[in-house]
Amino acid sequence: MTDPTSSLTFDGRAVINGERVAARDGQTFDCLSPVDGRLLTQVARCGEADIDAAVAAGRAAFEDRRWCGMAPAQRKRVMIKFAEQLIAHADELALTETLDMGKPVKYARSVDVNSAANCIRWYGEAVDKVYDEIAPTASTALALITREPVGVVGVIVPWNYPMIMAAWKIAPALAAGNSVVLKPSEKSPLTALRLAELALAAGIPPGVFNVVPGYGAEAGSPLALHMDVDCIAFTGSTRVGKQIHVMAGQSNLKRAWTELGGKSPNIVFADCPDLDKAVEAAVGSIFFNQGESCNAPSRLFVEASIKDAFLEKALKLVPQYQPGNPLDKGTVMGAIVDKVQMDTVLRYIESGKAEGAKLLAGGEAAMPVAGGNYVLPTIFDGVTNTMTIAREEIFGPVLSVLSFTDAADVVQQANSNIYGLQAAVWTRDINKAHGVARALRAGTVHVNSYDEDDITVPFGGFKQSGVGRDKSLHAFDKYTETKTTWIRIDSPV
Ligand code: NAD
Repeated sequence: MTDPTSSLTFDGRAVINGERVAARDGQTFDCLSPVDGRLLTQVARCGEADIDAAVAAGRAAFEDRRWCGMAPAQRKRVMIKFAEQLIAHADELALTETLDMGKPVKYARSVDVNSAANCIRWYGEAVDKVYDEIAPTASTALALITREPVGVVGVIVPWNYPMIMAAWKIAPALAAGNSVVLKPSEKSPLTALRLAELALAAGIPPGVFNVVPGYGAEAGSPLALHMDVDCIAFTGSTRVGKQIHVMAGQSNLKRAWTELGGKSPNIVFADCPDLDKAVEAAVGSIFFNQGESCNAPSRLFVEASIKDAFLEKALKLVPQYQPGNPLDKGTVMGAIVDKVQMDTVLRYIESGKAEGAKLLAGGEAAMPVAGGNYVLPTIFDGVTNTMTIAREEIFGPVLSVLSFTDAADVVQQANSNIYGLQAAVWTRDINKAHGVARALRAGTVHVNSYDEDDITVPFGGFKQSGVGRDKSLHAFDKYTETKTTWIRIDSPV
């Protein structure tokens, strides 16, 4: 069988002012595939000088209004072409994402490419349908409340959904008329670089959308600290997110928006309307994307009276999630993004064992493809809320199962965590569903499901899961300034 990846070539250079360029000092780093350890390409190891050049290009584009000066209907047409470019290159983008990041190619194609394209199209379509306001003032004046792009937006994203995380930010930022400088994760930079080329092909003018790969401390920090960046939109860990807010305050008080970690509780009451569906959602959602999802339901709370029955069903599903070659179309769980992340996951598994949790499944690395990074789907029972594996985000295929006695007990346990990204509650009792959903401190609560998702709804967290919301029309709030223009009316009548 021909290797579908053999025809792919990668260009690891930055895209600044519409041109492919090496890092100013010529430095590169190796981009290795987690699938089998192969060297994909050398990527530009950009630093402060490259960030300066990209910000200057973005600023020049903003000042001469080559993009923000276009009528919204024209920007819409270009954004829709940009989305169409992703679909036209879907197979190439999906294979690149899989090789670079390790996720199964079937999901890279059906989820990542499609969601990123849909997001870009949706914000493009929205931009000529959002109206400004006139305030209800006295008739002696007219107060116009208008939205203006903030200017140059810095975007820093993680590696778990490289195209989707980028699209959630660049799509509303670009649609609103801003210039963008995107720094992708050093662990998965390749599709972001292609996005910049596809944007140019669609007609986004040079300088408007720049992509500068590199390490966090070397390229990310100069972007967050830059005095000529008006807004920094970050998705990543809570540890780095806190630094982003510090850097924003330390520099020019740029607007800072952060989408951070999670340790989401999934709560199953004994009166759950469909236990099989709840089991499938609990297992499927924690193992999807190898558990490398910010909103993964990594704390499963099952009411004590049904816990044994629930776990018996859950264990029967585990074999479906054995890791396999992500390039095989049948694989549902792929490779962990790199060796560092795999070792982190394995360390958490050891801490679970050491702190007295009961290992029911998995618990070690696997090797379906030589040279790759793989971890078995892992389930711990007997977890208590004070254990490290219940408190900290693991970002791997590890499910911690806890139990509870009643609604008050589980709400208290679920909320006893620094994160507040998502939650779920399974019950047929409408009062319990509403009461518990309201009491949970989370940006999104699912009732009798876990995987509902749509670009029309905001995504983001309470507490240390971050500040601000991606997706939906609310995202425009992050990338626009509100301006009031008072017009005095000395009416002759
Ligand atoms: P990370 O914080 O290590 O890195 C994220 C990005 O920040 C990368 O591009 C990295 O290079 C950059 N970075 C690192 N140090 C920096 C610094 N000092 N200054 C500026 N930039 C810096 O996170 P990660 O390991 O790439 O991603 C995993 C995390 O992302 C998890 O915590 C996950 O929950 C979170 N995440 C959150 C959401 C959400 O929407 N809430 C979505 C996806 C991932």
